[in-house]
Amino acid sequence: MHENLKGEVLNVSKTMLERGMVIGSSGNVSVRKGDHVVVTPSSVPYSEMEQEDIIVIDLEGEVVDGHLPPSTETATHLEIYKNRDDAKAIVHSHSVYATALATIRKPLPVISDEIAPYLGGEIRVSEYAMAGTTYLAKNVVKALEGRSAVLLASHGALCIGKTLKEAFSNAVLLERACQVYSIALGAGEPHLLPPDVVEEEAEIWNEAHTE
Ligand SMILES: [Zn+2]
Repeated sequence: MHENLKGEVLNVSKTMLERGMVIGSSGNVSVRKGDHVVVTPSSVPYSEMEQEDIIVIDLEGEVVDGHLPPSTETATHLEIYKNRDDAKAIVHSHSVYATALATIRKPLPVISDEIAPYLGGEIRVSEYAMAGTTYLAKNVVKALEGRSAVLLASHGALCIGKTLKEAFSNAVLLERACQVYSIALGAGEPHLLPPDVVEEEAEIWNEAHTE
């Protein structure tokens, strides 16, 4: 079932590992197709993961196809899909610079021209809740409002997209921006883009995300 999407999920998962955005079995990836969600399994190292390990669940979290339990962050994925029509794929990573900012609970401001058009504006840090809980799911949805990315307090980062390719490229963009911002913070006081420019650039995101 959904073999092509399982292949895409596997590919993105392995690429996250190669790029050092996750280690072991941390982080998770999913894509929505109608009332089904194709998602990475829980506790399977990415290096050993195969296409047959990818799970298909419904929007209530029941396994429709697969022999392993779905990701421990399934509640967060489902909560996002239920609340965001513009989310058709989710990439949750533990990439280092995004997690570092999330650890000091510092939002990523709009420091370059790519952030607002692709991610919607300043990227908030969701309120802390323990990994795997429905509290985390609610906090993430709240902080993700009007954005394609969110930092998870003391945990990691999460990006959505209309396709898995878009969600992954948003995750790469977010990590890069968090890296630049972290380095800039250590060297001095980063300048932010002028508010009128941010507003104009955020319009590009708004137009792409409202139907
Ligand atoms: Zn995580």
